[in-house]
Amino acid sequence: MQPTIQHFINGKRVTGKSERHASVFNPATGEVSAEVALASVDDTRAAIAAAHTAYPGWAGTTPLRRARVLFRFRDLIEQHRRELASLITREHGKLLSDAEGEVTRGLEVVEFACGIPHLLKGEHSENVGTGVDSWSLRQPMGVCAGITPFNFPAMVPMWMFPIALACGNSFVLKPSERAPSCPLRLAELLQEAGLPDGVFNVLNGDKQAVDVLLTDPDVAAVSFVGSTPIAEYIYQTASAHGKRVQALGGAKNHMVVMPDADLDQVSNALMGAAFGSAGERCMAISVAVAVGDVADRLAEQLTPLVRALKVGPGTSPEAEMGPVITAEHQARIRGYIETGLTEGASLLVDGREIDVPGHDKGFFVGGSLFDHVTPEMRIYREEIFGPVLIIVRVPDLNTALRFINEHEYGNGTAIFTRDGAAARTFSHAVQVGMVGINVPIPVPMAYHSFGGWKRSLFGNLNMHGPDGVRFYTRLKTVTARWPDERTERTEFVMPTMK
Ligand code: NAD
Repeated sequence: MQPTIQHFINGKRVTGKSERHASVFNPATGEVSAEVALASVDDTRAAIAAAHTAYPGWAGTTPLRRARVLFRFRDLIEQHRRELASLITREHGKLLSDAEGEVTRGLEVVEFACGIPHLLKGEHSENVGTGVDSWSLRQPMGVCAGITPFNFPAMVPMWMFPIALACGNSFVLKPSERAPSCPLRLAELLQEAGLPDGVFNVLNGDKQAVDVLLTDPDVAAVSFVGSTPIAEYIYQTASAHGKRVQALGGAKNHMVVMPDADLDQVSNALMGAAFGSAGERCMAISVAVAVGDVADRLAEQLTPLVRALKVGPGTSPEAEMGPVITAEHQARIRGYIETGLTEGASLLVDGREIDVPGHDKGFFVGGSLFDHVTPEMRIYREEIFGPVLIIVRVPDLNTALRFINEHEYGNGTAIFTRDGAAARTFSHAVQVGMVGINVPIPVPMAYHSFGGWKRSLFGNLNMHGPDGVRFYTRLKTVTARWPDERTERTEFVMPTMK
């Protein structure tokens, strides 16, 4: 009998009323590690109701006191960093060191949110008219919902809820059903930090729970991160029900390699960016765009490195790359490698069959490298989300830019060069939300905002940083006049600000 992973509603772990469950796997062994409860409509309404009831008290707590809870939460994350990382590795499969890195990136958003008294300061104009003052302030939205993907069980939820809570909202998080344990632990740590019950709830589930969150009148705003088809669905459905929505989708991130780039730096950067976390990162580089005569040298340099990648369980200190999330995803990635061959690309390293001693049931795929990939191929157009790097050859920077700008996705991109003018042209003209210059994974820090362009983001506000504060608050502008009876007289004309 496997343990059942529950929900966290109104300050307690609860099983809920649903009979439905899903299996949670340890991807390194291929074994089921737990069953997770999948929330019913009633369970979801119970979580929303808890958040709705807790909202006025929390919204009425001063920003300074809210920040103090987050300061304590910050310290608890530090203390429990290893524990949180091992929960992630057990269900996601990534290396423990990588999981710790993810916890740190989430922690940075908590640190940003600790500054909320300052971030919520409004604007004031004295004398917008004679004796009239005006000021703008930001107030919380109400109950906010977050729906998150499997690949960052700590960081992506923490892009959302620390700022939402700091702004005075209550929150219902629906994490990925494939990696649910870390978000539940975060809920307990928030409670230990002094967050009142009901302000933060974790609801495990699937489409059934999500559909209630998208349509329930008591949910004011929805944040989503996941694949593009679901992001689009979330955006359309929740918007149609009057909610504020930000929905981040998939990616196909290109790294342009100019002929003058330092190839050692390029290959180091590419290896980490393409194969870190088995390529299951929305900011992973999956396309190397080789400009001019660099292509042969690049392919030659990368091939032995990809072959030598050490693949193993995330708990092994020697491993450089862990398994992928499920057996279905493993089969899907292998299918893409087959497709690339059928489409006529050259497969330089084939990771389809890989032997990880003692882990023959684990969901492993070895590092794979394709050359001579062209834009009409499916392996170029579609997000594979696995350890597959493809090389596309172009004659010049303009062609590289055209390929990137014509691609459906626009999440992240990078250029490696020693030429400042090329880097400047690239960063100016590229139609992508996050751009690196000699930086392969340009993830913005917590105090900037994260988001892509085109079909990588639906909505007009990015995650965390200043946009996070904008997303989780509503702007109110007050115009005030205190009549002075000593000078007051009746006005019969249209008021203008004199
Ligand atoms: P997914 O879209 O399958 O699932 C994301 C969430 O949506 C999960 O909580 C899931 O339960 C829910 N969901 C799935 N199907 C649904 C449906 N039909 N209706 C309602 N809800 C549904 O994504 P995933 O496989 O968990 O994560 C990988 C994807 O996330 C990749 O495409 C990756 O690029 C993307 N991602 C994007 C970013 C970004 O910042 N843009 C960050 C991380 C991951």
